[in-house]
Amino acid sequence: MSTPRPQLVVMKFGGTSVEDAAAIRRTAEIVRGRRARGLRAIVVVSAMARVTDTLLAAAAAAGVGDKHGALALSARLRSRHLDTARDLVHGIELSTLLGTVQHEFDALDDLLRGISAVGELTPRTTDLVLSFGERLSSVVVAAAFALAGLEGAHLDARDCIITDNSYGKAVPQEALIEQALLKHALPLVERDLTPVMGGFIGSNEAGITTTLGRGGSDFSAALVGGALHAGAIEIWTDVNGIMTTDPRICPDALRVKTVSFEEAAELAYFGAKVLHPATILPAVQKNIPVFVLNSRNAANEGTRITAVAPPCRSPFKCIAVKKRLTIVDIVASRMLMSHGYLKAVFDVFDRHRVAIDMVSTSEVSISVTVDTSEHLPLIAEDLKRIADVKYESGKALVCLVGEDIRGHAGISGKVFTAIEHINVRMISQGASEINMSFMIEEDDAAEAIRSLHRRFFSDPDGEIFDLDARANTAGAPPVHMPAVAVQ
Ligand code: ASP
Ligand code: MG
Repeated sequence: MSTPRPQLVVMKFGGTSVEDAAAIRRTAEIVRGRRARGLRAIVVVSAMARVTDTLLAAAAAAGVGDKHGALALSARLRSRHLDTARDLVHGIELSTLLGTVQHEFDALDDLLRGISAVGELTPRTTDLVLSFGERLSSVVVAAAFALAGLEGAHLDARDCIITDNSYGKAVPQEALIEQALLKHALPLVERDLTPVMGGFIGSNEAGITTTLGRGGSDFSAALVGGALHAGAIEIWTDVNGIMTTDPRICPDALRVKTVSFEEAAELAYFGAKVLHPATILPAVQKNIPVFVLNSRNAANEGTRITAVAPPCRSPFKCIAVKKRLTIVDIVASRMLMSHGYLKAVFDVFDRHRVAIDMVSTSEVSISVTVDTSEHLPLIAEDLKRIADVKYESGKALVCLVGEDIRGHAGISGKVFTAIEHINVRMISQGASEINMSFMIEEDDAAEAIRSLHRRFFSDPDGEIFDLDARANTAGAPPVHMPAVAVQ
């Protein structure tokens, strides 16, 4: 295990925190604040806001032979990056930066032409196309930081984040990552430079570009923080940390000042836009606190995520909701309880690499929920060999999370009384005892959230919730990314 480095902070800035020159300037000031406290920072950046989506669209267009469509998308990205560079950097540094940006876009265009010529898009090539987002943002931010007196130094994440070959969702190789960071990143930190690297991207041992999956920049930050045993990992986004629920649905939502790793892990699935679930792991393993902070309101304390949360008077910390889910009902009257049957069912989902969110069983049926409908026809076909299957989309999962559920008797009674006017399809309370989930129609979700919030957060505990700033977003309403996002 590496030596703890309490002075080192890994700061991850999401797409909105680097979306244009103004955002990058704010980001620079935040980093300056950390350096002024005597901390050393490694900065991990996402692609500029919406760039990954555009790259994905360009790759898809190229994949069906639409070369002009693909190149038009890339041209728009090119001017956006060049404009941002011109706004932030000047003099000789600007010509170097523009040269690098042009060079990257030329490479991207070559690649898009190649894909359209072949008319085939593989996962490996998709990763390569997507990597340009973080390659470019990190180059621009590093140059801006260099000029802003922050000693910014670009670090190619692909030299450090070593993964396996699972394109699209590559698995990090932590021992190799640690070695690579000690070799490439630490010497920069020791020279008091601020390394700036792209999140989300990596490479396999053969040097071929991979990605960690959408939203993967948080994961990158946690991997870097974990490998170098940083004092803290800061996830800078555009909300004031984790909220009790989505403030767009419920204006009374409160900032949660502190949650445990376990609670955050439960929530991460719902607030994937704020915190990648896997962010938690490399940090938990080394007991490194993770902060979720707002780059538009840097003075706000955000949410601190720690191994053990202080006790809270109310049973729940958050009410999360995830929409666009599908319930799959699997009915097999004779076989359900027979040995190996559940395994056979789960194996089918596994073969199609579809994750199951929630499971409930009765004597004759199993219901599971999934958040994709993409592979369902094929899954249903496979399942039909062993059961009758039907599936229904348009469902929402509501999830109440809190470590203090444990100590409260009669909780489910209170929950279901609060929403007695709403039809509940499936209920689950996980073994972790910190999560109560149920499935309803998507159209009932907003009403259910508001009723539950009224019931459980009308007298909130001031130690845990920020009572001063009810859903305060100081300057920026959380339009893009509520901490508990409605997907
Ligand atoms: N740019 C990537 C995405 O949009 C990764 C990230 O932002 O975390 O998914
Ligand atoms: Mg993100």
